[in-house]
Amino acid sequence: VEKNNRYQQINWYPGHMFKSFKEIKENLKLMDIIFVLVDARIPFSSMNPEIQKVLGNKPTIILFNKMDLADKSKLKKWIEYYEQKGFTCLEIDAQSGKNVNLLKTTAEEVLKEKIEREQNKGLKQRSIKTMVLGIPNVGKSTLINTLSNRKSTRTGNTPGVTRSKQWVKLANGFDLLDMPGVLWPKFEDETVGYNLAVTGAIKDNILPLDDVTHHAIQFLQTNYLSRLKERYSDEITENSEYVEVLDIIGKKRGALISRGDIDYDRVYMIVLNDLRTKQLGELTFDLLWENMKMI
Ligand code: GDP
Repeated sequence: VEKNNRYQQINWYPGHMFKSFKEIKENLKLMDIIFVLVDARIPFSSMNPEIQKVLGNKPTIILFNKMDLADKSKLKKWIEYYEQKGFTCLEIDAQSGKNVNLLKTTAEEVLKEKIEREQNKGLKQRSIKTMVLGIPNVGKSTLINTLSNRKSTRTGNTPGVTRSKQWVKLANGFDLLDMPGVLWPKFEDETVGYNLAVTGAIKDNILPLDDVTHHAIQFLQTNYLSRLKERYSDEITENSEYVEVLDIIGKKRGALISRGDIDYDRVYMIVLNDLRTKQLGELTFDLLWENMKMI
């Protein structure tokens, strides 16, 4: 079967993803400001397709998480793009905590008028209510843990916020909902699907690993050829056939089955692991010019 046809046959997300929409909206009503997390490596693919509809006019900050893994110059362009759309943006690394301390001042800046209005009315200063939203695996739970100084939280892998609400009082005067809101990713677009798979945002059993690796290698050949050469072999060129590249990597890394045949399943895992653990350097997979028209 052709790669494209196989993509069409995949039944991506179960219907309950869509049922959570209403629930998220109910929670949003309580919030002063929303943190929407995206993966800095795929600032387009990891953005919920209906985010504007979900958020309405709610003050929002887009957090580009996993900045440690992303190509900084490409990320900068994406941030400029979203800023032009009127979003306030911040790049963070929720795992190490980098830039997480900037959340408060950034949020206060966004809410400045509202805070001033309340002060002018003589209202007592109150805590700012907030929640974290994003598609699975963008780092929502990690951020909640970092903000609340905890080691672990219930991971919100069911869509919406289904438990009874629990607020965490943060030292900086925020009240944070301790369950993230889980949004669904885009799935009509093939490139988006592969980018989600390549970065590990969706599980390795959703799309065929062969196709995912094919997509990744083609992308690297076109956009990061020197990284492929450095990591694996100078023999890889921009025009090398996919199977040729797999063979080169397989031989270099000893991914062989009997009689010297290449163990392709192992090669897929080698490439995907290298790519996800920064062995191929900082990478961004969404290209702005390519996706412009779709946002
Ligand atoms: P959630 O599904 O959105 O709650 O995502 P998690 O918080 O469970 O994070 C998904 C994976 O991404 C975990 O393996 C985290 O350790 C990892 N992760 C989260 N934030 C970062 C980050 O800023 N940098 C890196 N390198 N990994 C991160």
